[in-house]
Amino acid sequence: MSTYILWDIDGTLILGNSRAGALYLDSIEQVTGVRPTVRVSNPHGMTEGQLLAEVLKVNGIDSGLLPDVLVRLDELSLAQHESGEYPREAAPGTAAALEAFAERGWINALLTGNGPNRARYKVLAAGYSADTFDWEHSYFGHESPTRHHLTADAGNALAGHHAVIVGDTPKDGEAADSAGFPFLAVATGSFTADELRATNAVLVIHDFATGLDAAIDAIDAIDQSIGAASARR
Ligand SMILES: [Mg+2]
Repeated sequence: MSTYILWDIDGTLILGNSRAGALYLDSIEQVTGVRPTVRVSNPHGMTEGQLLAEVLKVNGIDSGLLPDVLVRLDELSLAQHESGEYPREAAPGTAAALEAFAERGWINALLTGNGPNRARYKVLAAGYSADTFDWEHSYFGHESPTRHHLTADAGNALAGHHAVIVGDTPKDGEAADSAGFPFLAVATGSFTADELRATNAVLVIHDFATGLDAAIDAIDAIDQSIGAASARR
């Protein structure tokens, strides 16, 4: 039995960047010939497919074009990655947290609304090494209609193991709840620690630079309580 730490990417491993939105608009425009002008009101925590579907919908564009838009997004992401022009910024303390978790034998992996290629380009652009993450046990929601579907897939795949979701939005928390995963919230994205305390998070930290010890204690406690519950069965 292993303990998987399933990291969200945007707002959790890397800080926000305004170029991401432009890439979505470019992908849609290049596929459909129409550049969306209407914004989605609350995009945070949506999977990429969910967000793009919503952008098409609110702009009155044929949603049947979504698969083509996702392909184009992958191509543009690769071009952007290869240009090296858009470095990403790692969230504070995450590099040390990944290392500390790995030292304890916990497995760092990704659970993200991005596709696998975009996820890889993003973490590399932020200075993480690809072998920091277990890609075999990472879950990508670019084709998931919601974060719940994504998390349910991860829950099935990791049955019999311990897993904790680390994320920055209430949607990460709801998705964790629906799959029965504990949720550890970090306020480096678009939500404040107070807002995240309204979720069922086992712990809310401001960032990993200040919250690493508390995070380790919380995950240790989860490991022990789940371990004890299975031993009683
Ligand atoms: Mg996020």
